[in-house]
Amino acid sequence: MDTNGCTIDIELMANAKTQLDGLLATTQNIEYKCIVQLVNGYLRKYCKHNIVSDVIDISETHSKTIYYCESCGLTFDGLSTPK
Ligand SMILES: [Zn+2]
Repeated sequence: MDTNGCTIDIELMANAKTQLDGLLATTQNIEYKCIVQLVNGYLRKYCKHNIVSDVIDISETHSKTIYYCESCGLTFDGLSTPK
């Protein structure tokens, strides 16, 4: 894999993830879910994650900090970021 800033594969895969996420989880069959998992796994492994945090409101009185990657769109729990 070219590591000199060649991230077109990540861009395309992130686009695919966005498209795939457009289908409601309840209407995804097992093969569809497998493909989603494969795409997520690819991004998790090959993306040079650029983690940013964002605060979202979960109710009128509570908010929550989420962490996600600007490059691939994967979300991460807490501060643990994959290597
Ligand atoms: Zn990423």
